[in-house]
Amino acid sequence: MAASVTCKLHPGHSLTRHHYGGEEGHACVCALCERIIAGAGYRCGECGGFDAHEACLSLPMRVAFVGHPAHELTLSLLTASRWCDACRVASHAGCCVYRCVACDFDVHARCTSLLDGKQQHGRKRGVARRVGMAALRMGLFGLRVADAVTGGFGSPVIEVIETALNL
Ligand SMILES: [Zn+2]
Ligand SMILES: [Zn+2]
Ligand SMILES: [Zn+2]
Ligand SMILES: [Zn+2]
Repeated sequence: MAASVTCKLHPGHSLTRHHYGGEEGHACVCALCERIIAGAGYRCGECGGFDAHEACLSLPMRVAFVGHPAHELTLSLLTASRWCDACRVASHAGCCVYRCVACDFDVHARCTSLLDGKQQHGRKRGVARRVGMAALRMGLFGLRVADAVTGGFGSPVIEVIETALNL
């Protein structure tokens, strides 16, 4: 971690390494992801008007975003409040969002997959799918029991499910 860095989003001032107290005193929010900074981060040593996580300072200036495939988005410092087109939560002047100025499209860095969202969502979907398959197999077991009791009444249904599961 360098003692001081520069950031295109806060031009002309250098940012210096700062230890943020977390809950003690007033919480400082990262200009890029708008999450509270606890521990190490960077603060503008000249005006105090810019705070950021070290990881957020390495966000790319231009990205391709699946929610707006027509144009690349540019990381920009807001000069007025704007709505995020992904989560519909407003951000205020001094925060940074990815923008397509031509289309008036704005999205938070945290609403893209650049920070951590994509991996977490992927894992959750995987678990839901496995649970769904387990439930289907349980249902199939129930049908087999019913099939034995009724003497073959449920058989066509079982065949359909077995085909779907590739048993
Ligand atoms: Zn951040
Ligand atoms: Zn400054
Ligand atoms: Zn958002
Ligand atoms: Zn656009």
